[in-house]
Amino acid sequence: MRILITGGAGFIGSHLCDRLLAEGHEVIAMDNLSTGNVENIAHLAGHERFHFIKHDVTNYIYVPGPVDAVLHLASLPSPVDYLNYPIQTLKVGALGTHKTLGLALEKGARYLLASTSEVYGDPLVHPQHEDYWGNVNPVGPRGVYDESKRFAEALTMAYHRYHGVDTRIARIFNTYGPRMRADDGRVVPNFICQALRGEPLTVYDDGSRTRSFCYIDDLVEGLIRLLFSDETRPVNLGNPQEMTILEFAHKVLEVTGSSSPITFVHPTDERTKDDPKVRCPDITRARETLGWEPRVPLEEGLRRTVEYFRGRV
Ligand code: UDP
Repeated sequence: MRILITGGAGFIGSHLCDRLLAEGHEVIAMDNLSTGNVENIAHLAGHERFHFIKHDVTNYIYVPGPVDAVLHLASLPSPVDYLNYPIQTLKVGALGTHKTLGLALEKGARYLLASTSEVYGDPLVHPQHEDYWGNVNPVGPRGVYDESKRFAEALTMAYHRYHGVDTRIARIFNTYGPRMRADDGRVVPNFICQALRGEPLTVYDDGSRTRSFCYIDDLVEGLIRLLFSDETRPVNLGNPQEMTILEFAHKVLEVTGSSSPITFVHPTDERTKDDPKVRCPDITRARETLGWEPRVPLEEGLRRTVEYFRGRV
């Protein structure tokens, strides 16, 4: 297949490029390099089935030749990024989805939207299953991300129902691994880099919020299975092993062998406003329809991620 991946130079996008090339597909990575990094795809330069197009997907997209699948991963998925770039975040989620769906329609391509657990907002149902509609504050600082992705899902379903586009929606929960940006502000790179530098680990508030962390290889496997399945309903992809952020800080200290202290920080900006108190995927649908579940234990995934950051800190 000839596959377009928007956000192809990003964390998840670049891993998808690797995997799809390894399976024999032709891959076109598109990225405006705002948060993506050419370093993530530098090893693919010169590959005969790999192409890179530097383009902002909020503008009209032109891709010469046939396209069999469009995977829309371009996004600003870190809370710090979407607080700093709220309008770009809304645009890539809304306009970028419109442009990529238009391209899929024109080319007769299958379409996969990278959606998010943030569509559930600060959830009142726990764990979150796909039939839960969520609890999102549209006018809060996280609303720019959450609502753009909710709009993206609605638009994807409209193209599916009205135009008959063959669509998939992945609701991606917290994912980690090599190629995350050291400075993206999320808890995984923050804690690992702090631990490696011997700096205090910055646990926000009392560290009692929960998250469930999925290793990148598991996520990519889930995305591929979803793409090649017949499932057009949203599918949660994440690791249901849930823990508090304080527990996660201890886990990072254990894996890095760091003697960094843990410090409790109370951000005065809007960083933790509407921060979901709990998050854990119900992956029954992924298990049943894709035969998928995560395989990489947290310690193992963290070890591989720490190795990546060790060379960069
Ligand atoms: N967090 C933290 N310290 C940090 C960065 C994040 O305690 O240095 C917390 C944050 O408040 C949230 C959780 O870790 O409750 C996960 O945050 P992240 O930014 O990784 O992504 P989110 O899951 O909120 O999208």
